[in-house]
Amino acid sequence: MSKFWSPFVKDLVPYVPGEQPKLAKLVKLNTNENPYGPSPKAIAAMQAEVNDNLRLYPDPNSDRLKQAVADYYGVQTNQVFVGNGSDEVLAHAFHGLFQHGQPLLFPDISYSFYPVYCGLYGIDFVQVPLDKQFRISVEDYVRPNGGIIFPNPNAPTGCVLALDAIERLLKANPDSVVLVDEAYIDFGGETAISLVDQYPNLLVTQTLSKSRSLAGLRVGLAVGHPDLIEALERIKNSFNSYPLDRIAIAGAAAAFEDRTYFEQTCQKVIDSREAVVTGLQKLGFEVLPSAANFVFARHPDKDAATLAAGLREQGVIVRHFKQQRIAQFLRLTIGTPEQNQALLDALQGL
Ligand SMILES: *Cc1c(COP(=O)(O)O)cnc(C)c1O
Repeated sequence: MSKFWSPFVKDLVPYVPGEQPKLAKLVKLNTNENPYGPSPKAIAAMQAEVNDNLRLYPDPNSDRLKQAVADYYGVQTNQVFVGNGSDEVLAHAFHGLFQHGQPLLFPDISYSFYPVYCGLYGIDFVQVPLDKQFRISVEDYVRPNGGIIFPNPNAPTGCVLALDAIERLLKANPDSVVLVDEAYIDFGGETAISLVDQYPNLLVTQTLSKSRSLAGLRVGLAVGHPDLIEALERIKNSFNSYPLDRIAIAGAAAAFEDRTYFEQTCQKVIDSREAVVTGLQKLGFEVLPSAANFVFARHPDKDAATLAAGLREQGVIVRHFKQQRIAQFLRLTIGTPEQNQALLDALQGL
């Protein structure tokens, strides 16, 4: 706290990202990164951008990337927004679409950045409890609101909401923006982008950090009605004209164009997930049904914080949340088969 701060800064409660340990050789299963590298074509495209042109500003509109995303999803480029990670895209959405004097609704167990953005932009919110099976129940979102946001699949549960339920939610809330945060959709869910032409209140965000293995590049996107996209563009162009650099635009576009590599690596993660679920169940864990690149699991007799500490001693880093309702769960990122085996072996001894 300093007298130089704008007064609201002292009340901010910032997001705490998962640890990025400096030690090498750890089995790092705590931040849902992809265990397989980015597409070799994306790496080549980025390397080709490291040249004299870096003296020039990048394309402020990232047209090449928007075109690649539009082609991939069969939408128009004016239905696509891109930003510096989907966290930035989400921030602009909170800023530009959720300030309506009514509370924003999101699940009680959800991405912990949402309340942080509410704090930053002065947005009231109501956390709607998930049901006993940790699922979103659409009926609970039929109440006055200034917007609705949830991850699908949800984080950190991994549970997916079916498209027909999302459609019911959209129909029940025609006067609110419904933002579906699809950070993990490529690992088993069905994208709601197919609904954007029908529902002008739907905004879908995605990231290249997980399924396209480019967390270090910082690229995210949104797809929705051109009017929603225009709000995001107006915020972005009032904040930073160039959130994506030349390397990011080239790498992200190439990653979207390389479908084969993308589909193969996603499938490997999905196959490994099923093996991890089976292994955990054999050890006595209850595992929530996951459509993501992580699983959420609890043991009936073993304390989750103790397990996380025991794993860490063996060089395996996982994520544990202190929030009361989920304090007995561990969130385990799916790694390579070798990493997953190391996790199961380490758990066996605890
Ligand atoms: C990882 C994640 C994001 C952020 O992704 P970035 O593009 O890396 O900023 C957004 N939402 C959820 C639910 C996530 O898990």
